[in-house]
Amino acid sequence: MIKEFKKSIGYICPGCSAIAIWDKNLFDFSGDETAVFKCHSKCGEECVAITPKKDKYSILINCPMCDEAHLFNVRKITFWQSKFFVLHCPETGIGILFLGDHDTVKHELSEQEQMFIKLSEECDVTRELTMIFEIVERINEIAKEENVFCACGSHAISIEIDNEKITLKCRDCGKIKDIPASEESLQNLLNASAIVLD
Ligand SMILES: [Zn+2]
Ligand SMILES: [Zn+2]
Ligand SMILES: [Zn+2]
Repeated sequence: MIKEFKKSIGYICPGCSAIAIWDKNLFDFSGDETAVFKCHSKCGEECVAITPKKDKYSILINCPMCDEAHLFNVRKITFWQSKFFVLHCPETGIGILFLGDHDTVKHELSEQEQMFIKLSEECDVTRELTMIFEIVERINEIAKEENVFCACGSHAISIEIDNEKITLKCRDCGKIKDIPASEESLQNLLNASAIVLD
């Protein structure tokens, strides 16, 4: 008797948090071609990529929790023979890919969905804070070279931080420069050798 190599694969889209469950069989993963799993909903985000490698699958997951891509190597035998298994985000420990029969996968995913949403909000806050620290660190580096100064000539600059921006203020003339807490600001600062309040 031929064993039925069927599995349901479930995950949550990192773009829009939609749940996707696909029913697949062995023949959907053939040769060395990468099978790309996109968002089930409209956003079309590429969520999971599975590439057959000898006796393993390499599974790349765009994590809905921490926005990183995580790479897993799972033995083919484990993939097809386990009743149910979960791949976890190494940052948060949360299950991000569910493999098993359709009903189990569906059940586990819906159980986790609320937690996903709650935790990903917390993740956003952490990300913003990390960004702010990186920007402040870079400003400090530039300041050490005496290259943070005001158009009035003063080097007495204070730094204030809130959730959205970093504010530089000249202690002598009161001039203000806001630096938004964004990836773009960080990149600009990494390329800049001086910050002038003008
Ligand atoms: Zn989506
Ligand atoms: Zn993750
Ligand atoms: Zn000034």
